[in-house]
Amino acid sequence: MKVVLQHITKIFPAKGRNAKDTVAANDLDFEIPDGELIALLGPSGCGKSTALNLISGLLKPTEGRIFFGDDDVTDLPPENRGVGLVFQNYALYPHLSVMDNIIFPLGNLRGKEKMSKPEMRAKAHEIAKLVQIDELMERKPAELSGGQQQRVAIARALVKMPRVLLLDEPLSNLDARLRLQTREEIKRIQRETGITTVFVTHDQDEAMSISDRIIVMKTGIVQQIGKPQEVYDSPANLFVANFLGTPPINVFSARVAGEKLYIGSDAVLNVKGAADQEVTATVRPEGFILDENGPFVCKLGGVEVMGRDISVVSTNENSVNPTIRSIISAESRVDTSSPTVRFSLKPNKVFLFSKQTEERINFGTV
Ligand code: ATP
Repeated sequence: MKVVLQHITKIFPAKGRNAKDTVAANDLDFEIPDGELIALLGPSGCGKSTALNLISGLLKPTEGRIFFGDDDVTDLPPENRGVGLVFQNYALYPHLSVMDNIIFPLGNLRGKEKMSKPEMRAKAHEIAKLVQIDELMERKPAELSGGQQQRVAIARALVKMPRVLLLDEPLSNLDARLRLQTREEIKRIQRETGITTVFVTHDQDEAMSISDRIIVMKTGIVQQIGKPQEVYDSPANLFVANFLGTPPINVFSARVAGEKLYIGSDAVLNVKGAADQEVTATVRPEGFILDENGPFVCKLGGVEVMGRDISVVSTNENSVNPTIRSIISAESRVDTSSPTVRFSLKPNKVFLFSKQTEERINFGTV
């Protein structure tokens, strides 16, 4: 089921005398293709949950329309939209068994959709198998691990075969290992069912690994939409460049003069077609090449060996952050007795942004 948001805005009116209205969603205008898993990604308060709740029908937009396929669902309540919802806190019924928790939504079906008890049990078993909890059907939620409880919540959301599955930070309550495992599970379940899924997270690793496409948001505004790798490789603005990537991207005050990028007095890269101006230059950690004749000279801070890679920590007075972190192959040798380290830069790992608008400045390399 394709989901379309047309110019959706949600304003929460101010409460209190000096308070201001909150524009939690600002002109959201995008399409989620049928069968895709989309991550809504952004920092706390950027409007991810608001966007999800607008799709679910728990919130009504101030402006704009929402379509599921060709159906305009804007005025439909959540129960008539055909959505499955999973929240961070699983909200299972503690006194009911896993089986009865999963069956629960089927009890509300009416008319020709109404199911007999054996049909419900069969359906619950089918879904429980899919999420791999079919051997726990008689347990109560308190007798399950966090990951198992979350799978019951997903099974309950799936049992009515929703048109759209909506997951709001579903992994936040799980420990690191279980998070990894459960996110793989969610991906598998989504592939197997083919249900269009929206996944809210503030964790960029999670979004990058699980989704077909990510929508990066800030202050209610969509910053960029694309496949995870595309967004990583080609961030539209400084916010997106900063938000994606571990270790984070390195940020410098820099300038373009005569189609060369200068960090301080070092001409670090040819930037064909870029106009002379002050810029913010960013370099991914993997964009540095150790090079004894390299143009970019930094003060060597230290070297951390991390198995496959070496992390070189250095400083430069034009770096916005206190340290520069570069990741290079473990086969490289760093002369730790030297006070400086020299790099050349990989052009496709360097992004320039306007100082004024923070939008990307494109350049070619020669
Ligand atoms: P988090 O990751 O912290 O859950 P989020 O990106 O999901 O954040 P939202 O919960 O969508 O953000 O909130 C977006 C903005 O709207 C925030 O500034 C929040 O304070 C505000 N907001 C959310 N719900 C309401 C409400 N019911 N009334 C007033 N303001 C609200």
